[in-house]
Amino acid sequence: MHSIAIIGSGPSGCFLAEILALKLPGVSIDLYERLPHPFGLAISGVAPDHPHTRKVTEQLQRTVDRDEVNLMCNTQVGLHISYEVLKARYDRVIFAVGAEQDRHLGISGEELSNVYGSGAFTRWYNSHPDAQSLHPSLGKKVGIIGNGNVALDIARMLAKTAQEHQQSDLTPHVREALANHSIEEVHIFGRRGPTDASFTLPELTELGHLANARVKVSPDAFAGIDTTQLPISQQKVIQQLQSFADLSFATSNKIQIQFHFYATPESIQGEQRIEGLTIKDTRTGHTDRIQLDSLITAIGYQTPLIEGVPYDDTKKRFAHTDSLIEPGVYCVGWCQRGPQGVIPTNRSEAMGLARKIIKELES
Ligand SMILES: Cc1cc2nc3c(=O)[nH]c(=O)nc-3n(C[C@H](O)[C@H](O)[C@H](O)COP(=O)(O)OP(=O)(O)OC[C@H]3O[C@@H](n4cnc5c(N)ncnc54)[C@H](O)[C@@H]3O)c2cc1C
Repeated sequence: MHSIAIIGSGPSGCFLAEILALKLPGVSIDLYERLPHPFGLAISGVAPDHPHTRKVTEQLQRTVDRDEVNLMCNTQVGLHISYEVLKARYDRVIFAVGAEQDRHLGISGEELSNVYGSGAFTRWYNSHPDAQSLHPSLGKKVGIIGNGNVALDIARMLAKTAQEHQQSDLTPHVREALANHSIEEVHIFGRRGPTDASFTLPELTELGHLANARVKVSPDAFAGIDTTQLPISQQKVIQQLQSFADLSFATSNKIQIQFHFYATPESIQGEQRIEGLTIKDTRTGHTDRIQLDSLITAIGYQTPLIEGVPYDDTKKRFAHTDSLIEPGVYCVGWCQRGPQGVIPTNRSEAMGLARKIIKELES
């Protein structure tokens, strides 16, 4: 009988548990989860208006239902049980705790009210237990810093009408807040140009189909870009952005979603709450101030420290070599490689680690 502890029941912890349960005869897996419910960002990150992506939880549910897997919710490693105890109790310990903390911009004014990290903000619209006390006040002009899919998820969630949110998986108070906000403008800022944006085509295209939103991109964002040298997926992203730039932008009542490329945030102004953001054009050095009522930073995440677990302070995740933290202890998923990659990426990574662990335990 092999005893294994997996800490974190998000996609990577569940995928690993599934493969070990299938391939390692006689294994017993304790799956520790700090929240009252399992599945991590598969339900608290993935946007509530993307039910097809959340369907992965049906597969994860089958894993936690397996006889070999014992899910223990409301149990936070580092608080309710220590790392030292786990190491003494199990043959193998694997961390799959993700990267739950928002990274900071490191500019002045970040502490003002109405400035939110995207982790906190997406937890709010997903009604995550950690966000119960967050009541975001967004105003008319919302800024989002970041050029990844999370930034687009947030813009889309804010710009959708109540009608478009009918099928979204929202609790009543979030549904009400999203239906009654007074947002007129959403500004999305990226430090680099369109070719460096990391959002993907389906998410970008979706913005163009919203009933009550118009997307705006300045044509000069494309100056000097030779798309023929780019991979086809990136070429399509640029084409989609260019099609937004080509739109004539007549005044309308619709929410304006405006992309600002080459825009480095320099400082946030305001007394108690944010009033504006100063950005610097990374090509010309020219600075500009944009009036904002709220700001959401979507610039990445970091893994929180757990007492005793070696940590890489530069990469802001656990210190490891090829997933190995120390003999008998591994990490997988976002706490292993940082906050990059979609749900299926965690499956292939979990498979590789499972193979390694099975080989060790069976030799
Ligand atoms: C806003 C957002 C939207 C996303 N949208 C998509 C999408 O549409 N499609 C897609 O494919 N991918 C999406 N992703 C990426 C995807 O969610 C991640 O690839 C995946 O969730 C990472 O899995 P993980 O198991 O490593 O971490 P997580 O999903 O974060 O799981 C970690 C788990 O560990 C638990 N935990 C943390 N600390 C402890 C502790 N000390 N003790 C016990 N338990 C602990 C947490 O509660 C959590 O359940 C999105 C990510 C974000 C942030």
